[in-house]
Amino acid sequence: MGEVFTNFEGGAIHGQIVGANHAIGHLLRKAISLPIHQSHQIKILIIGLGISGLTAGYFLQKAGITDYEILELESHIGGNSTLGEDASGWYPWVNHYLPIPSLENKELIDFLSENKITTGFDENKRLNGNNWGEA
Ligand SMILES: Cc1cc2nc3c(=O)[nH]c(=O)nc-3n(C[C@H](O)[C@H](O)[C@H](O)COP(=O)(O)OP(=O)(O)OC[C@H]3O[C@@H](n4cnc5c(N)ncnc54)[C@H](O)[C@@H]3O)c2cc1C
Repeated sequence: MGEVFTNFEGGAIHGQIVGANHAIGHLLRKAISLPIHQSHQIKILIIGLGISGLTAGYFLQKAGITDYEILELESHIGGNSTLGEDASGWYPWVNHYLPIPSLENKELIDFLSENKITTGFDENKRLNGNNWGEA
């Protein structure tokens, strides 16, 4: 499903307005008054798989904790920082920038290193990376 927008020169831009599915969100108002048919107990429940929920899951896994469950309202993960795909490849729904972390931000630096987003430090103790800081 797409729409055609116009750029400043009058040219066509093909795209669509994206965001949270309000129809699914509104179901919650109804669900709150429905009878409970099933219940079970879990130790840890992560609600929402935006970057906060994904990060919680990442650190639980890293700590060897696997007895958690995740609930996500939408049919895709990522929340605000989700992505799409078309013939040209993957693209973010909106630009998301990660400021260069200070050297004290050990958790983030470890994360970037573990996932090969940065490859270490240069001689001035600045982070190296794949295109890091070159955008
Ligand atoms: C246009 C824009 C640009 C931005 N640019 C930047 C940037 O450059 N750098 C930066 O650091 N930050 C940026 N941000 C902010 C960043 O996107 C948010 O801070 C971050 O994505 C919030 O993540 P979150 O996981 O806390 O929440 P969300 O991304 O909102 O995720 C919440 C998740 O929970 C789900 N959910 C909600 N209710 C329920 C429910 N009842 N049951 C189950 N699931 C539920 C939702 O579907 C969603 O997946 C930007 C935000 C916007 C809108």
